[in-house]
Amino acid sequence: MKKRPGGEARLLEHIEKTFRFPGDKRLLLGPGDDCAVLKHGAGRDLVITTDEMVEGTHYLARFATPEDIARKLTRMNLSDLASMGDVKPVSCVVGSGLRKDTSADFTRRFMKELKAEALRFGISIAGGNLAGARENHFYMTVWGETGRGGVVTRYGARPGDLLLNVGNIGLSAAGLEILMAGDKAAARKFPGLVKAFWAPEPMLAAGAVIGRNKLATAMLDNSDGLARSAAILASLSKCRVILSPGEGLCGPQLRAYAARAGRPWRHYVLNGGEDYGLIFTARPSALRSIKKLLPAAAVVGRVEKGRGAVIENYDGKVESFEHF
Ligand SMILES: [Mg+2]
Repeated sequence: MKKRPGGEARLLEHIEKTFRFPGDKRLLLGPGDDCAVLKHGAGRDLVITTDEMVEGTHYLARFATPEDIARKLTRMNLSDLASMGDVKPVSCVVGSGLRKDTSADFTRRFMKELKAEALRFGISIAGGNLAGARENHFYMTVWGETGRGGVVTRYGARPGDLLLNVGNIGLSAAGLEILMAGDKAAARKFPGLVKAFWAPEPMLAAGAVIGRNKLATAMLDNSDGLARSAAILASLSKCRVILSPGEGLCGPQLRAYAARAGRPWRHYVLNGGEDYGLIFTARPSALRSIKKLLPAAAVVGRVEKGRGAVIENYDGKVESFEHF
């Protein structure tokens, strides 16, 4: 549900320009990447991000439990830390705006699951905020630590690089379709798709392997689908990304669901977001190490000179994703 139309992309660009303070030497990486990076202490940097879930925008009340919301809020935030490379999550603050009719039971269950998630991922909950609101919404700011100069940004892709994905891809969008349709039979038949939407796995271990071994030239987490991720990398790294998602990318549940829905599976892989896998570029010489250290990583395209993102191998069609 979290699509970014052209207007929002332009607004983000304006925000990034407005808040660029070239004089601040403590801010190592500012708006425009998955996380901000700040000088923190001797040889350590602080990596920080924020994200939120809004009822009616990111989910509908009729298919969301408080546990679902707590889980996804935590994981979508941690995913941004994972996409920066070798980052150890430390702590978070959490807030929410709640409608008057929100039950005490809902709030208790949300907090219980939030605590379980914090323990699961080894972070503390350092504080937060509570307010009344017209729409329920939940937000988190999470931070982690990394060694100096250890982060992988969105800016380093170069012509000749390969484009890779590690983690779920396309599953979450299919899961959301099932939830939106209220299709109980499909939810039972394809539990992996619904789980991909509600409980994505932040790729912290894979991110750490990529960062520590300097395997990637650029990286981001897949929050908006492969096509949009490629367009972002192309734009920020000033290169052209050619996408060629191969058959191996599609697991049995997505394949079966796509056939049932009458859509090509690539539709979900290219346009579906909120999978929170890692999409990264790497020199071809790094491929052998990548395959050894991250056997699940798959090549999904390549980088060339030029601009924009283009898809080949999509039922014979080539689609341009230069502008969203
Ligand atoms: Mg991100």
